[in-house]
Amino acid sequence: MTIVIVGGGLAGATAATELRESGYEGPVALLAGEPHLPYERPPLSKGFLLGNDPLDKAFVHDEKWYAEHHVKLLLDTRAVEVDTDQHVVRTVDSDHAYERLLLATGATPRRLPMADDSGAPVAYLRTIEDSKRLKAAFTQGADIRIVGAGWIGLEVAAAAREAGSEVTVYEQAELPLLAVLGPEVARAFADLHRRHGVELRLGSQVGPEDLKGADLVVVGIGAVPDTALAEAAGLDVDNGVLVDERLRTSDPDVYAVGDIANQQHPTLGRRIRVEHWDNAIEQGKVAAHNLAGGDEVYDRQPYFFTDQYDFGMEYVGNVGPDGYDEVQIEGDLDGAFRAYWVSGGTVVAAMHANDWDAADEIRASVGGSR
Ligand code: FAD
Repeated sequence: MTIVIVGGGLAGATAATELRESGYEGPVALLAGEPHLPYERPPLSKGFLLGNDPLDKAFVHDEKWYAEHHVKLLLDTRAVEVDTDQHVVRTVDSDHAYERLLLATGATPRRLPMADDSGAPVAYLRTIEDSKRLKAAFTQGADIRIVGAGWIGLEVAAAAREAGSEVTVYEQAELPLLAVLGPEVARAFADLHRRHGVELRLGSQVGPEDLKGADLVVVGIGAVPDTALAEAAGLDVDNGVLVDERLRTSDPDVYAVGDIANQQHPTLGRRIRVEHWDNAIEQGKVAAHNLAGGDEVYDRQPYFFTDQYDFGMEYVGNVGPDGYDEVQIEGDLDGAFRAYWVSGGTVVAAMHANDWDAADEIRASVGGSR
């Protein structure tokens, strides 16, 4: 059986790896739109951007691995069409027949045309090239303005401060990460950044006048799933490619994983699209088993992590649209702590900050009572 994977990011590369590691011996082709070997993105806003880690550390495998494992890796090769009737993926100059197809096309940063009106140079952060551009601009005393105090915006702020740049962050909500964490814990992130000299402009809309004269404007206002290919192929799409509990799309021979997959999650009992590293890896593994004929459900709780200055955290679970009743916080919000988001007596999400021994306990607590 021939398996084609479209998208050479973490999810696609993990699926190819898992196919081989689980003993699948049929043909596997991996079509990667970027000119680079498949890589992980977290270092682009952390170790690599900070100058602490070489770029090599970001690659999922070296080039040799793909040849040795008979994974046909086509770099700089974008799929332009999926013909589900003919079971063919087309690029501009080649056809790739498949029996099973995996879509792992990821996401691209949401654009902010207003920023261009400021006349200042505007950057986004998704790729190696983007990260190199930021790294070059983050110099002592540079005037860096960041739009958006989400994960990317805050990590970029930390990296710029550590390079000695002057940093202003604009966020329309009253606190950074407010929608994800709620006010109790979001406050800790505001304090963290203020302690490190970031100027936070919260609770107001940013305009071109605010950005004028910056050495670099970095926009981090979320990402949009790359669903064009799936949509044109006639697959069901709604805020991502719709997949069932087994990561299968509306076409039984096509699966989707990672940032593009909007999954019917069996444990959460609703659809969720997760734009995080762990999800790309773990969905990639489950999809690999199912592509090869398995019948596995993906039921892992969402997980993410961040590192900013000397602050590291891990978060497991998801507060749904119904919100939470209370957050129970143990420890010191300015140092090490654990937080539990509780709804109806059940922990729906939990995190630790700077308390790495707590990682297992945090995961185990989700779904339990408290
Ligand atoms: P991607 O990594 O986006 O890969 C998709 C690939 O498919 C891309 O290379 C794209 O070019 C390619 N592609 C698209 N269309 C086509 C096509 N038609 N044909 C061929 N190829 C195509 N998560 C965390 O949990 N913690 C973190 O600290 C963290 N840090 C991050 C830092 C940054 C700077 C970024 C950008 C993300 C971070 N994330 C983090 C999120 C995490 O990196 C993503 O969730 C993960 O990369 C998703 O993997 P993916 O394979 O689904 O998508």
